[in-house]
Amino acid sequence: MVCEDLADPAELVHLTRRLHDALRGVYRVGEQDLPVTATVGASCATASTTPTQLLSEADTALYEAKRAGRDGSQVFDQRVHHRNRARATRQQALRSGVEQGQLVLHYQPKVHLRSRRVVAAEALVRWQHPTDGLLLPYDFLPIAEESLLVVDVGRWVLRRAMQDAARWRMPAAEQAPGAVTPGGRVGPAERGVLPDNPLPVVNINLSGRHLTHPGLLDHLDEALDVSGLDPTQVELEITETVVLQDLEKTARILQTVRDRGFGVALDDFGTGYSSLTWLQRLPVDTVKLDRSFVVDLLSPEGGYGPDILGSVTALAHALGKTVVAEGVEQPEQHDYLVGLGCDLAQGYLYGRPVPASPFPVTDDDA
Ligand code: C2E
Ligand code: MG
Ligand code: MG
Repeated sequence: MVCEDLADPAELVHLTRRLHDALRGVYRVGEQDLPVTATVGASCATASTTPTQLLSEADTALYEAKRAGRDGSQVFDQRVHHRNRARATRQQALRSGVEQGQLVLHYQPKVHLRSRRVVAAEALVRWQHPTDGLLLPYDFLPIAEESLLVVDVGRWVLRRAMQDAARWRMPAAEQAPGAVTPGGRVGPAERGVLPDNPLPVVNINLSGRHLTHPGLLDHLDEALDVSGLDPTQVELEITETVVLQDLEKTARILQTVRDRGFGVALDDFGTGYSSLTWLQRLPVDTVKLDRSFVVDLLSPEGGYGPDILGSVTALAHALGKTVVAEGVEQPEQHDYLVGLGCDLAQGYLYGRPVPASPFPVTDDDA
């Protein structure tokens, strides 16, 4: 939409707001009432602005408004311009960083709660930036997620993590009550006694974009090929918010991945306002309770922690799923979780993510 008679650039803000209000509403299509929201990006031309530039600026503003959560509006200005430039530069740097081998994996141990034995480890990606130091996922994954770059990152992580895990020497199984084999899934019969078959030793996070990418299965096969790892030794983690975007579709893909032999874990459970009944419909082996629940356990206000954690754990167990508590930092939280019957846990109490393997490594360079 082109508007030629604005007296002042500030009027553009009012105009976008009016446009927004005018478009928002419930529209009847056939038999259905569809709620419609609009996201508006706008830019004001100066004497030297070309039409192409004007469109591109409005588009940048629109993108920024969408990033801020949609159903809003944004007018292009110098701050938008700088943020956009900084993002593009970062994205380009990450692209070359991936090619130049600047990504690294750290591993955080996952322990069997009652025995505190390390049974597996989660791979967590970091970017060893040439000038900014070691960057955590929150510093670069959101930028990667704006394009297919996140699939390149994910593909690298799959290969590297499986190659690393293939070199881990797992200690011999112990059949003592309350112990669990490294890589052991905890069975419902006696949480703590161990199955003989090979079970996940490495957890790998998958982004939503990678999960729905047509190349996913090839990338998984490729990582299995180069590592020689068995899919049953790998558990893929997908966050609850990703699952909620399209439950049916995600459930289908997760089922395919599981049919291939991989384990599947629902990460950050409790952050996405999902209904507990959905757990039943999701093909997942494991539920990872978000750190916020664990923090709540000992908060002075009491929070919802203990009640919710207890109910979720009971329901997950009733559905045959393993329960992992995330972000355990204090011995009191550990004790509480043991009492609630959680199976496994991760957190600074047992170990922070570190570059080294949690298990002894074979010498041969696989
Ligand atoms: P996540 O999968 O839930 O991983 C757990 C995060 O919590 C990690 O942060 C870990 O360092 C942190 N953490 C673990 N224990 C504690 C604790 O006791 N206290 C506190 N305060 N934090 C704890 P990190 O490494 O920064 O990763 C953040 C998120 O980034 C991950 O959350 C995961 O969603 C994502 N991510 C990490 N690596 C990858 C990857 O390779 N691919 C994809 N797609 N996402 C990844
Ligand atoms: Mg995870
Ligand atoms: Mg998590």
